[in-house]
Amino acid sequence: MSAIATTTPAAPISISAAQARSSDLEELISADPGQFRILTGDRPTGRLHLGHYFGTLHNRVRLQDLGVETYVLIADYQVLTDRDVADNLTEYVEELVLDYLAIGIDPARSTIFTHSAVPALNQLMLPFLSLVSIAELERNPTVKDEIAHSRQAAVSGLMYTYPVHQAADILFCKANLVPVGRDQLPHVELTRTVARRFNERYGVVFPRPDVLLSNAPLLLGTDGTKMSKSRGNAIALAADADETARLIKGATTDVERHITYDPVARPQVASLLLLAALCQDRAPEAVAEEIGSAGAAALKRTVTDAVNSYLAPIRARRAEYAEDRGYLRQILRAGNERANAVADATLVEVRQAMDALY
Ligand code: ATP
Ligand code: MG
Repeated sequence: MSAIATTTPAAPISISAAQARSSDLEELISADPGQFRILTGDRPTGRLHLGHYFGTLHNRVRLQDLGVETYVLIADYQVLTDRDVADNLTEYVEELVLDYLAIGIDPARSTIFTHSAVPALNQLMLPFLSLVSIAELERNPTVKDEIAHSRQAAVSGLMYTYPVHQAADILFCKANLVPVGRDQLPHVELTRTVARRFNERYGVVFPRPDVLLSNAPLLLGTDGTKMSKSRGNAIALAADADETARLIKGATTDVERHITYDPVARPQVASLLLLAALCQDRAPEAVAEEIGSAGAAALKRTVTDAVNSYLAPIRARRAEYAEDRGYLRQILRAGNERANAVADATLVEVRQAMDALY
């Protein structure tokens, strides 16, 4: 039996390389959106926030509207990577569907589904696990960061292996484009490695997907670290205007009074400026210039107004959809059915390639 072919190991992709590749991809997408299929997803660990929105959700909707085939995964099994029990799962799954509908994901054009309802997808994990080494799993920087923030006393096997599970998520539907935030770069790199090694070993079945980064691949939370639903530092899309104002008022900035856009030296101020800029569709430098010596309090007022105006129609739509929970369930049932058909077909191909179709 041959060892895992690690002659061409999973090379870490730099953020600048990923950004350059993303702008090339944008051109290819506008020329021929029908060539692409996207898969992205979120863990049902709480309501979606502004980091999700500008990191990935906005791109998903834009691509869907351009005619790119879109799969949106609610990663329920992956909730268990950093906690013993997935609390309030049904509620959080429904909250995600509500967020998707509110931002413009259209269930008639996009497939919204949950991991646990698609057995053939999960079965891909077994051959895929055989294609990666323990050392590769251990050096994943996003996993290391998540272990540092984990609420568990011991690190579970799922924490180390969920990036392989994500390879199954992406490859079950043969997605070739993954519009995600920066934390996902190592995971998509691993997916590319899994696809390449599978194809080399068994014959070509899978594409090698590309990451598509947005203009906000890492939005910071109110404590100055990555905005994250599990870290208590997020501004939820569904928050009301007062809560939004309160959260932004409490955001970490720095001691320098004059506001400038400097993502390297002043990451927290830069993230706030970027947030206002994205909501107002202008450059963060222009927002900084306008505020100038008025300082952090003025910056926060600008950000609050920008966010609340931008989110007002999204929040109104969300409240309307929230009236009909039966409709949310119906969307999931239909999405799961579609995802199962796709996963079953891929699994047959995989078993055929592995000479395991009896
Ligand atoms: P959790 O804390 O439960 O892990 P999360 O906030 O990290 O939640 P995920 O469900 O893990 O969210 O991530 C879903 C998607 O949103 C991924 O594509 C990820 O890259 C993107 N994303 C999450 N947080 C940010 C952020 N702060 N900035 C940009 N993109 C983000
Ligand atoms: Mg996360």
